[in-house]
Amino acid sequence: MPTAEQVFQDGLALGELRYQRCRWCAGRSAQLRLLCATCGGTEFDWKRSSGQGRIYRMAAPTSAGEAGGTAVVELDEGFRMNARLVPVPAHRLWPGAPVRLEVTEDGGALRAAFRPVAA
Ligand SMILES: [Zn+2]
Repeated sequence: MPTAEQVFQDGLALGELRYQRCRWCAGRSAQLRLLCATCGGTEFDWKRSSGQGRIYRMAAPTSAGEAGGTAVVELDEGFRMNARLVPVPAHRLWPGAPVRLEVTEDGGALRAAFRPVAA
């Protein structure tokens, strides 16, 4: 059986953001885990996110001009994840700003990043 990390990476290779949904309580998570954070369940289904969401909270202060940094992104499916933001002018980044998945490559590994989109 592939590991959770492999399933997640395979999704990114297809431009998909995959997340886990607990079979016991339907809790959702983009963090790869062995136990559900809500109920301790151990069975998950993989689901495909639309990749659309909003910035919930900026995780790192952004400087003026070109900025990237990381943020907590809340996906339309109702889960939150820490993710990198592609470098864009800082004025496009604020809590509530709509963002879209953009797969980036970092040292040979694919990563889920997000790009602000027009509201
Ligand atoms: Zn659960």
